[in-house]
Amino acid sequence: MKRNIEKSLYIVAVCFFLSAYIVFAPGCALKQVQYTAVGTAMGTVITQHIYTKGENITGNIMEIITSLEQDRLSYRVSESEVSKINAQAGSDLFIALSKELNDDLTTCFNVSTKSEGAFDITVGPVTRLWNIDAWVSGENTEQKIPEPEQICSTLTHTGFDKITYSDDQMLLPEGMSLDLGAVGKGIACDRIADYLDQEGITGAVISVGGSILTYGEKEKGILWTVGIVNPRNTETPIGTVSLSGEWYVSTSGDYERYMEVDGKRYHHIMDPHTGYPADSGLSSVTIVCKSGILSDALSTACFVLGEKEGMELADYYDAAVLFVDIEGKLVMNSAMEKIFRQTKEN
Ligand code: AMP
Ligand code: MG
Repeated sequence: MKRNIEKSLYIVAVCFFLSAYIVFAPGCALKQVQYTAVGTAMGTVITQHIYTKGENITGNIMEIITSLEQDRLSYRVSESEVSKINAQAGSDLFIALSKELNDDLTTCFNVSTKSEGAFDITVGPVTRLWNIDAWVSGENTEQKIPEPEQICSTLTHTGFDKITYSDDQMLLPEGMSLDLGAVGKGIACDRIADYLDQEGITGAVISVGGSILTYGEKEKGILWTVGIVNPRNTETPIGTVSLSGEWYVSTSGDYERYMEVDGKRYHHIMDPHTGYPADSGLSSVTIVCKSGILSDALSTACFVLGEKEGMELADYYDAAVLFVDIEGKLVMNSAMEKIFRQTKEN
């Protein structure tokens, strides 16, 4: 996976391409332009469809995502704000946070508290112990399951409740670190929406890996249709959600990054209480709500919690939720029932 990410980032300049075509409204002169772009950032594929009467802003959006990753969120980039915080772990000096990161961390800790630790951005030492960066969708059969003692001792360096956090400042205990991998793509969608507001864009659908932003409209009265991946056949959607205006759709699944040992799948969504991949009987969770960071945090949290508690959490945040379990059964809350349509062959 790491190799793929590096390769993807390396070829970003090559594989980033643009196309545009003119959209005519019946009986009108030139109405608006659709710009389409596909590129790579945050170690994932970014797809943009933008409807505007103005100029092509797809390149600016790629820059927003890249700078969010490099300057703010990535623990892998030594100059990022998160890396600088991680480098201070164990010091008894409070670390001052930027307003943006402070707002995002407030949301993260809120979801951590409400999910009783199922969502936890301090889980990084556990994901590194499992070496999930090396997993490429089941291919790495030589990967090993960590010993229970290793997991136990790693868990002493995790737990959001060990962090002292108040008034835009943080004290990170020795050996701990922040990993915003579960929310980075959702945060990117939030930042993109702010930029679309600023630019007065008519409509857009932008996907940042497993997080998707729908914005405005492309034609009056036409809904956006977003496909939801079938976790056991990722080539075809299991269904679609139909949305009007600004919404955020995030999916967490056991198919994104995993290894298989003796026929058992070990995936990248960890239960922070056990230090093992979450064993909640689910293969994917999709959240639709009004915030990118929340949709991304909740999809991860609900995956760990499982159907019953996950649904309570989604309802608490007024989010629509769809669970697909490991048998392929679909369960959703009433908010999702209103917008979801299952694909016939599923
Ligand atoms: P997502 O695909 O949005 O569910 O995010 C999964 C990523 O978040 C993983 O690759 C890890 O980097 C990180 N992660 C794994 N488990 C958790 C968890 N329980 N809470 C927060 N972050 C997690
Ligand atoms: Mg997530």
